[in-house]
Amino acid sequence: MAYSYEAPVSQTLFDRASLVTPGGVNSPVRAFRAVGGTPRFMVSGTGPYLTDADGREYVDLVCSWGPMILGHAHPEVTAAVQDAVARGTSFGTPGEGEVALAEEIVARIEPVEQVRLVSSGTEATMSAIRLARGFTGRAKVVKFAGCYHGHVDALLAAAGSGVATFGLPDTPGVTGAQAGDTIVLPYNDLDAVRAVFAAQPGEIACVITEASPGNMGVVPPGEGFNAGLKEICAADGALYISDEVMTGFRTSKAGWYGIDGVRPDLMTFGKVMGGGFPAAAFGGRADVMAHLAPAGPVYQAGTLSGNPVATAAGLAQLRLLDDAAYAKVDAVSAELRSLVGEAFTKEGVAHTVSAASNMFSVFFTDEPVRDYEGAKKQEAFRFTAFFHSMLEQGVYLPPSAFESWFVSTAHDARALERIAEALPAAARAASEAAA
Ligand code: PLP
Repeated sequence: MAYSYEAPVSQTLFDRASLVTPGGVNSPVRAFRAVGGTPRFMVSGTGPYLTDADGREYVDLVCSWGPMILGHAHPEVTAAVQDAVARGTSFGTPGEGEVALAEEIVARIEPVEQVRLVSSGTEATMSAIRLARGFTGRAKVVKFAGCYHGHVDALLAAAGSGVATFGLPDTPGVTGAQAGDTIVLPYNDLDAVRAVFAAQPGEIACVITEASPGNMGVVPPGEGFNAGLKEICAADGALYISDEVMTGFRTSKAGWYGIDGVRPDLMTFGKVMGGGFPAAAFGGRADVMAHLAPAGPVYQAGTLSGNPVATAAGLAQLRLLDDAAYAKVDAVSAELRSLVGEAFTKEGVAHTVSAASNMFSVFFTDEPVRDYEGAKKQEAFRFTAFFHSMLEQGVYLPPSAFESWFVSTAHDARALERIAEALPAAARAASEAAA
């Protein structure tokens, strides 16, 4: 595909990056491999906008893959960070900021009785799995195809977006032993879960699921799916782990738990709770968390865990996320979904706008998508044409058809107008695209 627009400074930076960094990026999803072209190197962000190294401004619909729910450089978050930085950046001791952030999480999410802070979502899920195994004395883990839980060795099987984008079924470097205790089942299929528990009673430590998946595109749980998982786990003595790294503090004040009310044994968080800094967490039942070192025997640690700057940013962001803020994000998302749907309908493009609260994505199919197999059946080549047309017109979408789009409280009428202006041509490009 030829692109009619250029990004010479980004191209130069990408060339430099490619010499010193594999693939020129520090996280594969940032590359434009799935859509082609040169990744944009961003130099600044304000509210709903990003500016790249060539001086072009974009309406941002990635929001750093979720965290920037108040938009970029929110003045109160920035002030909290500046204040924290001025007092020193890391002490390697406990600090009050960690306590306050933990209290905020516990106050918002009722099943979280105790919480441990870490630095990334990957660390959170990895540690939650270890804790579940340590607590139950069992080895096996059930996950679902299309759910991504970070690049934890045992959880990389059939792991959705990043992996889906590159068409890698699994990754070299994960040994049979590391993945051997992982059972991968189709999403939204309780019968498959029942069958596995019936065949291996007392052997499964936990079921881990995205509370509402956003890594195969947005595919919400069917009615009763999460409740069914909880029930099956409880009957067998396994733990139900809800991964809310993406949905936590985004889909509602109490994340997806605030929407479906199914009480997990353990939960994982990241993204929004770090306010754009590396902060994440896992938590849940106090009797399970009591097994963590130094209270208990399951080891888990981190030099920068509970970092004072990251906790200050996270706390400032969470404190600003009141009911009005969620109502705003939900309203922006609803308006955008209807604009996107109208544009595709007008051009006769088969599509489904799939939403879970304010997270949503577009599948290029009119079949309802319930699982990873269904997501993969979409005409993803249409996304490539759509993506580049939007980019050219100054709208930054996730560079993959298998990712959620994210909006923020800062997406105002002007930002939505700019998206609305770009959509007709982009929908036409999608309609004219050839496989
Ligand atoms: N879990 C879910 C549901 C995610 O979406 C992600 C990242 O996108 C992770 C875990 C991993 O988080 P991190 O990228 O911070 O390691």
